[in-house]
Amino acid sequence: MVVGDVTTAVDVLVLGAGPGGYVAAIRAAQLGHHVTLVEADMPGGTCLNRGCIPLKALLSSSERYRQARQEEPGVMGIHVEALTLNWAAMQDWKQGVVNRLAEGVRKLISGNAIEYVHGKGWFINAQEVRVEGEYGSHHFKFDHCIIATGAEAAPVPGLPYDGKQVLTPEQALALPALPAALSIYGDDYIALELATVFARLDVEVKLYSPGEQLLAGFDPAALRLVQAGLRKLGIAIATKTPVEKITTITEHPVIISNGVCPRTADLHVSDADIELTANNGIAVNSMQQSSVPNIYAVGDCIGGQALASVAIKQGKVAAEVLSGQRVQFAPLVIPRVVHTTPELATVGYTTQEAAQAGYNVVTGRFPLAASGRALTLAAENGAALIVADADNGLLLGATLVGPRAGDLIGQLTLAIEMGATLTDLSEILYPHPSLSEIVLEGSENAQGRAIHILTKP
Ligand SMILES: Cc1cc2nc3c(=O)[nH]c(=O)nc-3n(C[C@H](O)[C@H](O)[C@H](O)COP(=O)(O)OP(=O)(O)OC[C@H]3O[C@@H](n4cnc5c(N)ncnc54)[C@H](O)[C@@H]3O)c2cc1C
Repeated sequence: MVVGDVTTAVDVLVLGAGPGGYVAAIRAAQLGHHVTLVEADMPGGTCLNRGCIPLKALLSSSERYRQARQEEPGVMGIHVEALTLNWAAMQDWKQGVVNRLAEGVRKLISGNAIEYVHGKGWFINAQEVRVEGEYGSHHFKFDHCIIATGAEAAPVPGLPYDGKQVLTPEQALALPALPAALSIYGDDYIALELATVFARLDVEVKLYSPGEQLLAGFDPAALRLVQAGLRKLGIAIATKTPVEKITTITEHPVIISNGVCPRTADLHVSDADIELTANNGIAVNSMQQSSVPNIYAVGDCIGGQALASVAIKQGKVAAEVLSGQRVQFAPLVIPRVVHTTPELATVGYTTQEAAQAGYNVVTGRFPLAASGRALTLAAENGAALIVADADNGLLLGATLVGPRAGDLIGQLTLAIEMGATLTDLSEILYPHPSLSEIVLEGSENAQGRAIHILTKP
C-alpha cells in the first residue's frame, strides 16, 4: 500500500481503545452506528494492560501472602509454615487476569461488529484522520470522531524515566525482580497502593510525599487509620520532599507517581482546529464535544480526573450525544477508592468540605469494631463516617474505611445521586451479618439512634 493512497469514508471513528474509547465504540455500535476503532497498542488501554487491573491483581496476591504470613501466628486457628513467595509466578498470574479481560474486550469489539484497526492515528484536517499501522497508511474521512488517546506519566525535569532507577507506576508493576528496597514519590492513591503491594511482599519501602499530607481531600480521621496501616506494614513516610531532591536522598530505585499529562502531542490537533486547554488536554463541553462539534474527546486526554470510571462514563456520553441524545457528563459526585490496609473509599463532601460549603452539618460514625461481620473477618480496623445536612437529613458525603470499602461506596454514591436522606438509609433492610450494616448504623448514629454503639442521651 502506498502511503496515504487509500481513503475510506466512515461513520464513527474512535481513536484509542482504552476504557474511554472501547466503551464509546461499543455504545455507538449499540445505537446503530458503523464504528471504526483505531488503537496504536493493545485494546483495554492503560487501565486494563498497565494500570488499574495489574495493580489490583498485585494488591490481592500481596494481601493473600501477607495474610498467610500472619503477623500474629495462629489467628483463626491457622498457622502456616514454610511459606514461599514467587514473584515471577505472581506476575504470570497477574498477566493471566489481564489477558483474560483483554480477550473479553476483543470479543466485545468483534461481537459488536466494530472495525478494529491496529495503528496510530492523527488529524489531517477536521474531517480526516491518517492512520499508520503494520499494513501501511490509510486515510479515514469521518462523520463523527471520538478522541480517547489517554495520558502518560507526567515528566519530572531532570529525572527521565529509565524503567530501572526511575520508574513510572506502570513500569513498577512489571518489574522483572523484586528489589530489596524501593522509594516511592507521590501522595496519591497510586503511590499508596504501590507502597502497599511492595511492603506486603517484604520490600523495604520509603514513601516520599511532596506536601505535608497524603491523599489531599480525604477525611483526616480516615487518613489517620490508613497512615497507621502503612506504618504497620513497615513503610517509612517522609513529607515535604521536593521532587528534584529525590534521587539525591535515596540510592534505591524510585517510583514516581506525579500525575499524568494528556496524550495529545502527536495528534496534530491544530490541523483540525481542535482547541486545547492550558494543560494540553482537548477542551470539551459537558457533552464531550471539542471546539469542532463533530469531534468529541473523552477520558484522560481531556486532562480532568484521570480515572477509568470517568473515561467510561464520558465514552457513553459522547456516543449518545453523536446519536442525537440530549445527555451530558454531569455526575454529582465521583467516588474515590484507595486499596491500602485498611481500604479507604470516599464520595461527596467530607465534614470539613460540607461546613465550608455552608451546610449545617450532622455526622454519624460507626466503628468496625462494633460490626459482627467485621469481627468474623478479623478486620476490626476501620469505620463508616456519614455526612448529612442537619436541616433536612440529605446525605452529603461518606467515607468508609475497612474491607471492601471500595465496593460498599457504590451504594452511597447511588444514595447521593438520588437525593437520599438519613431516613432513607436507615429504613431499608440490610443483609445480616454484612459489612453494609456499617452504613445503616452510621446513618442511625447521625440521628442519635444507632443500636450497636451507645448513644449519648
Ligand atoms: C498504575 C495505575 C493504576 C490505576 N488505577 C486506577 C483505578 O484503580 N481506578 C481508576 O478509575 N483508574 C485508575 N487508573 C487510571 C486509568 O488507568 C485511566 O484513567 C484510564 O485508563 C483512562 O482511560 P482512557 O481510555 O482515557 O485512556 P487509556 O486507558 O490510556 O487508553 C488510551 C489508548 O489510546 C491509545 N492511543 C494513544 N494515542 C493513540 C493514537 N494516536 N492512535 C491510536 N491509539 C492511540 C493508547 O495506546 C491507549 O491504548 C490507574 C492508572 C495507572 C497508571
